Amino acid sequence: MKAIALLWYRWNLRTRDCAPLEAASRSGLPVVPFYCFDDRYHCTLFTGWPRTGMHRTRFLLESLSDLRNSLRNIGSDLYCKKGITEEEIGKINHRYPIAAIYYPKYYSQDEIDIERNVARLNIPMIGFDEHSLIAPDDLPFDVEKLPFVFTEFRKKVEKSLKIKTEYSGTNHLTTPSEFIETSIIPDIECFGFPAQSDADPRAAFALHGGETNAWKRLEYYIWNSKKISSYKKTRNGLIGADYSSKFSAYLAMGNISARSFYRQIKAYEQAIESNESTYWLFFELLWRDFFIFNAMKMKGSFFKVSRHYKPKITKNFEKWRLGETNEPFVNANMIELLKTGYMSNRGRQIVASYLVHNLKQPWYAGALWFESQLIDYDVYSNYGNWTYVAGIGNDPRSRVFNIKLQAEKYDPNCSYQRLWLSK
Ligand SMILES: Cc1cc2nc3c(=O)[nH]c(=O)nc-3n(C[C@H](O)[C@H](O)[C@H](O)COP(=O)(O)OP(=O)(O)OC[C@H]3O[C@@H](n4cnc5c(N)ncnc54)[C@H](O)[C@@H]3O)c2cc1C
Repeated sequence: MKAIALLWYRWNLRTRDCAPLEAASRSGLPVVPFYCFDDRYHCTLFTGWPRTGMHRTRFLLESLSDLRNSLRNIGSDLYCKKGITEEEIGKINHRYPIAAIYYPKYYSQDEIDIERNVARLNIPMIGFDEHSLIAPDDLPFDVEKLPFVFTEFRKKVEKSLKIKTEYSGTNHLTTPSEFIETSIIPDIECFGFPAQSDADPRAAFALHGGETNAWKRLEYYIWNSKKISSYKKTRNGLIGADYSSKFSAYLAMGNISARSFYRQIKAYEQAIESNESTYWLFFELLWRDFFIFNAMKMKGSFFKVSRHYKPKITKNFEKWRLGETNEPFVNANMIELLKTGYMSNRGRQIVASYLVHNLKQPWYAGALWFESQLIDYDVYSNYGNWTYVAGIGNDPRSRVFNIKLQAEKYDPNCSYQRLWLSK
């Protein structure tokens, strides 16, 4: 029986600029693209909330369905299983010897643990760093020497910026027929969520997963509407699709690579204009990288607190979670999150500050709720930002927001609060 290359998909659900796919296709072996709905991510937390909530589950299923179509277009398919990743890979290996596993690497504790368990199968593993914009080997310092403060990091990387070119793409994969048209992407009901749930008409943006939708959004935001040209002025907005890029979920699920996003920003700067706003979008991608490298530097210990302490869920916390506090501006944001799986960056900073500094609740309880609810949940950005707002992460300055002043400044006519607080 011929050995296969296993292309293990995680949060890199795309075919364009996908390093493991490129390498597997060049291996000369038949390739089996594989995705596991790992029970450790699709479970109920000790708090009673789903670890992966309804909005992100829907986005994930849409992403996988789009990925499967793209793989079918190049002669392959997506083999999906629900269970424990290392066990499912072990079962495949039992039927078809796996010569090598091609996969993206992550540096958060659960992801490191799963990778370690897969490594125990004694199959050669070829991992790729492709979540960040800058590859770790292109940093101007060893990751262990990552500056503690963002501004120092930014200045250093900008001085000698290196960003790898995108992979050109694969137009054919050879996959054994046994793996073609044999696996089914489960329905959302399999995860305990209703099949039909109408999108809230107040949502900033109807976020639908998949590489195709990611490129459509990019085409619209950068090229058709040219909203990128005013990003720095609009980015603190609260209502509508266009005050910010709405790219986070596509980046978190890997529907598009940060490199591709960056190259499009650069192409726009060359072809149309380069200004403060186009620069600022790149600047935000550096924040994203900073949190990734931070987790890499700390080798999983970054997540110790949030994994090992089980916060007590108090009445005050429940009021915050459900948007029932004494602060209407906080409530409006929390209701938007609950109903849509999205909240603006301004909103996230405000509700996080309120939970930690006003209600005196543990930051990791808030981070856990965000992990459950956010469509764009990204382990590095979520936990990194939460510690930052709590004043215990990088740059441990106090970041206490005055909620009333924030509401006056960013929602002067209360239109955002009316939108989410009206029944
Ligand atoms: C408490 C808290 C939790 C957060 N959790 C997440 C999370 O789980 N996933 C996530 O992607 N972002 C998170 N963010 C960062 C930020 O709020 C979102 O990335 C942003 O609101 C997404 O909307 P956008 O794509 O329109 O962003 P834009 O303003 O258009 O920014 C462009 C891209 O830059 C990156 N970016 C922007 N701001 C940040 C930031 N502060 N930190 C890291 N990357 C950033 C994102 O990838 C984003 O898509 C969090 C922020 C806070 C304060």
